[in-house]
Formats: sequence, C-alpha cells, structure tokens
Amino acid sequence: MTTRMVIIGGGPAGNSCATTAARLGAEVVLIERDTIGGAAHLWDCIPSKAMIAAGNARSFVQRSMRMGLSEVATDVDLDQLRERLSTLEGRLEGQIRSLLASQQVQFAHGTGTLIDPHTVRATTADETIDFEADVIVLATGSRPRLPDWAPIDGVRVLTTRDAYPPPTLPEHLVVIGSGVTGVEFVHMFQSMGSEVTLIVSRQQVLPAKDPEVAAALEEDFLRRGVRLLKGARAVEIRREGDEVTVDCDDGRVVTGTHALLAIGSVPNSETLGLDRAGVHSEDGYVPVDVNLRSNIEHIYAAGDLSGRLPLSSVASIQGQKIAEHALGALSVSRRRVIDYDKASSAIFTEPEIADVGLAEADAFSEGRKVRVTKVPFAASAKAQINDDPRGFVKIVSDPATGVVLGGSIVGRHAAELISVIAVAVSNGLTVADIHESALVHPTLAEALREAAE
Ligand SMILES: Cc1cc2nc3c(=O)[nH]c(=O)nc-3n(C[C@H](O)[C@H](O)[C@H](O)COP(=O)(O)OP(=O)(O)OC[C@H]3O[C@@H](n4cnc5c(N)ncnc54)[C@H](O)[C@@H]3O)c2cc1C
Repeated sequence: MTTRMVIIGGGPAGNSCATTAARLGAEVVLIERDTIGGAAHLWDCIPSKAMIAAGNARSFVQRSMRMGLSEVATDVDLDQLRERLSTLEGRLEGQIRSLLASQQVQFAHGTGTLIDPHTVRATTADETIDFEADVIVLATGSRPRLPDWAPIDGVRVLTTRDAYPPPTLPEHLVVIGSGVTGVEFVHMFQSMGSEVTLIVSRQQVLPAKDPEVAAALEEDFLRRGVRLLKGARAVEIRREGDEVTVDCDDGRVVTGTHALLAIGSVPNSETLGLDRAGVHSEDGYVPVDVNLRSNIEHIYAAGDLSGRLPLSSVASIQGQKIAEHALGALSVSRRRVIDYDKASSAIFTEPEIADVGLAEADAFSEGRKVRVTKVPFAASAKAQINDDPRGFVKIVSDPATGVVLGGSIVGRHAAELISVIAVAVSNGLTVADIHESALVHPTLAEALREAAE
C-alpha cells in the first residue's frame, strides 16, 4: 500500500523530505502558507547572503584600487538591490517548485493544522481541505524573537526580516546581539557604508565560538571602525524622530539612526494543533528521537522546529532522513542517523569564518589531548595575490592516530574551504590524507595541506 505523507512547511526541511519521500514511492502533500523555499529563502540564508555579497563587492572594488585599477563609484542603490533580491528569490522558488512538481508532490497553498493524529487540515483563502496521513512531518521553522521592550516598526527599529534592504540605508546602525546573525548584519551594513555599533552582552562576540576565531573577527571589526559595546545588555529602545536610542542594563546609552535586533528565534508551533494530535512540545519546540520522531510514532519534526542545530543544511538532511526512516529506506544512505557534532557551519563576515567538529577550546576544557596545527594565510601565495592575507587555518587532530577531529578557518572563502576538513571529520580521514592530496596551486586550499602536515 502506498504511504500517504503530509508535510507542513515548505522550507529546506519540508522540501527535502517531500522530494526524498516522493522518490521513494510515497504519495506526498506539502502544505505551505507563504513561499516555497521557506524562511531560508525568503528571509534568512538567501537574502542575507545576497546583501552580504553586494557589500563584499563594494569592499572588493574599493580594495581593487590598491591593485592598480582606477577609481569607480561604489554608491549603494537600494532599489536595485531590492529588485535583485526579489529576482533571486523568484528564481530559486521556481526551481524548487519544478523539482517538487517533477516528483509529483502535491502542493497545497495554505496554513496547515493537525486535526487529530492522522488528519491535517490546509486552510486557504477560500477553502478548507482535510488530508488523511499515515505519516505527518512538522517542518514549520522559526521566526525572530520579538522582545516587549523593542518598538519594532520595520523602518528604524528592525528585525532581520525588515533589513532586505530597509527603506533607507542606516547612517548609524545599532545591532543588538552578537551571535552569528548579529555579526553578519554588522558586516553587511558596515560594508555598505553604515557606521555600526554592536552591543555584545558578554566579553566576546560569537560567545559560542573558539576565542581565537572570535578575536580575529573583533580585530577586523575594530579596524573597520565598528564600535563594540561589551558586557552590555539592551533593555529598552526609544525612537525619537530620526533617532533611535538604546538603553543598556549597565547605564550605557547608544544613539543611532536605526536599531536591528538579532537576539534569537522562536518556533512556529502555537497554531499547529499539537495538542489535538497528542504531540509533546517544550517551549514550543517539538522534541525528537534520533530518527526525528516526536512522542507520536508516525509524527516527525524537522528543521528549526526540532530544536536541534538551526541551520538550513541540517534541516535538509533531517528532511531526507525522515523520509528514509518513515519509508523503511535508511539503508540507502551510508549513515542512518545524523551526527550533529560533525555538521559544519559558517559565518559570512569578511573575513569569513567556518568551523566543523571539535574546537581547540572545547578539547582544552574537556581535558582532551589533541594536536593543533595552525597556518596563517599570510604565508599563502594566493592570499598575497588576492591582497588579502587575513586569517588562518587550524586543524585539530588525534595525536595518536592523526584522525582529523575538527578545524576552523578564518579568511576569504572559509565557508567553501571548510568542506575539505568536514569531509575528513565525517569520514575519519587523517591529517596525512589531507596532506598527501595534490591540491591546485596557487590556491588558499594549499594552507589546508600545510596545516595537515
Ligand atoms: C538571518 C538569518 C540568516 C541565516 N543564514 C543561514 C545560512 O546562511 N546558512 C544556514 O544553513 N542557515 C542559515 N540560517 C538558519 C536557517 O534559515 C534555518 O535553520 C532554516 O530556514 C530552517 O529551515 P526549516 O525548514 O526548519 O524552516 P523555514 O525555512 O523557516 O521554513 C518553514 C516554512 O514553514 C511555513 N509554515 C510555518 N507554519 C506553517 C503552517 N502552519 N502551515 C503552513 N506553512 C507553515 C513557513 O511559512 C516557512 O515557509 C539563517 C537564519 C537567519 C535568521
């Protein structure tokens, strides 16, 4: 008998689950209330990286003047930028829609809710359809956390979702939150020409990252004129005319023209009808087992809603794994369950930052013996050709076996280069495996070979 699967949410988790399940022979319905591609395409990964790409292009052109090119204008045209983001989003949505259609996934545009453990209702503007399901996948994602002390208006007091781009380019942006999202927005707007102040609640930006990596980013921010307000927590935002004032808990006050909040997210689950199907939740997240099943055997949760590593890349793999598990096809993949500790991640600042696996600082705090090798890009011919010697490659390995346990890269194209270490970490490769690979010269990747020596 054909398995009927109903998925709520068309982000990376829902889409990847839908296409994998359809390929494995299930009858799949995908319910999405907004845009296929999810928040990842509409608000998060794609527009933020497209804005960053524009800022990087501007910095690159400005730097190129040192490489013998004559001066060119680098003004930011917000209308053109807005148009580009919208074209990009439309194109990517079209690609996913065609992929889903080619796999015969039925698409229902509406809001999905659980009616009982085997029925999902899709409510559209003019009709209500009930779908019976053998397997239900909840992949409704998350949205920015909105504190009650911030008068968000989308004009001067912004969430990340109001920033693509905002109505006017901030003259002075105050960014609240110094995690991955916060520092990416600092970089984005500074490289477009805004003055930026970052409120850092701890003593280090990126508190969860390797201190050496965070220090490299802080150094770069300071060189670029970003003001860091450390050890301060924003408690109130006041808007007066064209000015926005942020009060901090230690009495410090910052006044800018705009404020942007990047203080985390909350899951989209309040209206899902979890209770009607008996699905447990904790703080709105749906706890899952290693196979991503909720407490109800045939109801799975994936992506940000599962409360695991909130990354688009992880959400996609989770979606795939759910389809394989639900359809009894886990043996088609080499790995049956996801090892979240081996997921790589990146921060698209400039220099870029990327890491995977065990960090040096974590090994140290766990009292674990590791070998750490570090090579600065300053020694790389390609970095010198690029006129950008910032950053380094660091590889953490087992001193007895040489097996690569983790690594961090700070520098240009770090998000691409980390893939080499990620493949090594996921597959138990050794430093010798990396060192003995003949890589292209001149490239930044050669620094990986050296760090693996
Ligand atoms: C600013 C920012 C930048 C980021 N950049 C990156 C990055 O560069 N790389 C990376 O890997 N991750 C990035 N992330 C994280 C990434 O966006 C998320 O981890 C990812 O979107 C999670 O995918 P998802 O499928 O769980 O949910 P989403 O992408 O949020 O999709 C969920 C979908 O469900 C829909 N939905 C919700 N409720 C219902 C309902 N009841 N009925 C029907 N549809 C519903 C929503 O409309 C949405 O389309 C970023 C996050 C932020 C905030």
